[in-house]
Amino acid sequence: MIVMKFGGTSVESAQAIQRVVGIIASRTDRKPVVVVSAMGHTTDHLLDIVAAASQAKRGEALEKLAALRRSHLSEASQLASEADRAQLDTFLEEHYSELAELIKGLAALGECTRRTIDAVSSFGERISSFVLVLALRAKGLKAAHVDSRQVIVTNDRFGEAAPLLDLTQARLNATIPPLIQEGNIVVMGGFIASTETGVTTTLGRGGSDFTASLVGAALGVQEVQIWTDVDGVLTADPTMLPDAHRLRVLSFGEAAELAYFGAKVLHPSTMLPAVKSNIPVRVLNSRRPEGEGTLIVSETPPSAAVVKSIAYKEDITVVNIQSTRMLMAHGFLAKIFDVFERHATSVDMVTTSEVSVSLTVDRTERLADIVKELEGFAQVSYTPRQAIVCVVGEKIRYTPGVAATVFEALNDINVRMVSVGASRLNISLVIDENDLRAAVEALHQAFFSQVDETVFA
Ligand code: ADP
Ligand code: ASP
Ligand code: MG
Repeated sequence: MIVMKFGGTSVESAQAIQRVVGIIASRTDRKPVVVVSAMGHTTDHLLDIVAAASQAKRGEALEKLAALRRSHLSEASQLASEADRAQLDTFLEEHYSELAELIKGLAALGECTRRTIDAVSSFGERISSFVLVLALRAKGLKAAHVDSRQVIVTNDRFGEAAPLLDLTQARLNATIPPLIQEGNIVVMGGFIASTETGVTTTLGRGGSDFTASLVGAALGVQEVQIWTDVDGVLTADPTMLPDAHRLRVLSFGEAAELAYFGAKVLHPSTMLPAVKSNIPVRVLNSRRPEGEGTLIVSETPPSAAVVKSIAYKEDITVVNIQSTRMLMAHGFLAKIFDVFERHATSVDMVTTSEVSVSLTVDRTERLADIVKELEGFAQVSYTPRQAIVCVVGEKIRYTPGVAATVFEALNDINVRMVSVGASRLNISLVIDENDLRAAVEALHQAFFSQVDETVFA
């Protein structure tokens, strides 16, 4: 058995979905469980609609909803067979009526909760997964739809819910293997889930990758395939560096670090279930399915490559906290972290000196309150629009000179913070956002101008 996950661009149009049907059709012998994202930018559109409605822009919200419906109907109607056409129409009618009711309710209230945002954004994957089932059936394939909200169980942290692993595993194992045994290709939406009491939740933006690895680990599949719009995991984000190289193979640890530090190709939690169950993950391009992609495994073959890839995170805020006493008092760090903890704001990087602490956050909704509390016992300042840039590779931990190469490459750039991760798989730096492109280019030049062909393609 394998899990095949297709991202938004892989199912953005009827043509893209036809390509996906072809990819699945040629792998039916591997008993695929298919996890699918919302079509194209559907989730962004749904969130825009929610925003308009909660600002009481009822007309605008309903117009945008109507446009989304037209586009889904126009793509989906090219895919369903004549026999299934009535079923498609009923499905879209029911789902869009329910959405319109939700949106009207929001506009009347003029406010919205994270729970409502999840309820609305879940429609993207509910629709795409159903459409893919009809598209598979139209090609004569036997496909079964599973509503992910019946099998992926989470806590009620709306917007970034955490799965309850035992329950999820039990439900997946009770539901999916029998459908596979009956010869079905199982199709389910990524990203969406529900609480134990059945309230819809989501796993966070980009969360379909996480759904795929959760399903793969629960069912003990041979491989989790992440089909996307690039050839695999690359040495840098190709939107920033078009000539980045593809990695043939990467370790779980390296992939997790890259995802955590912003490489959008994998959701940050994707690797957790894969590591726990030791299931290989392969990143592949749905537009070039013949490519070999990037294989992510627990141990990579020996190679000379020390740095494997460069990741970055933009829109970071650095908070500087200075003790109001001369020497850092005992318990100072604990007090600081307690404040962040109580405001549910996670800290990415920390550096300390005797009298001051610098740390980075990427969420600033609670920052004003955090600063106010910190000012009770320290002097605080903060700098927005910073970036974290991070070089990743297993061998960084036992190779001298990597830091020197990093600093040499960034000779002209002001580095505000440096951290060598506890895992020692990465060296991370905080720089001004305006220097980001130059920094990534310089680091790429320093580490990847000559590459080992056993590792990079
Ligand atoms: P999907 O919709 O398939 O989930 P995403 O847009 O979430 O696709 O992720 C794929 C994108 O991730 C690529 O188009 C690329 O722009 C971006 N990306 C960032 N860093 C990397 C990297 N190191 N390797 C590959 N892609 C990356
Ligand atoms: N559709 C969701 C999003 O756009 C989840 C995903 O694509 O992985 O964030
Ligand atoms: Mg994604």
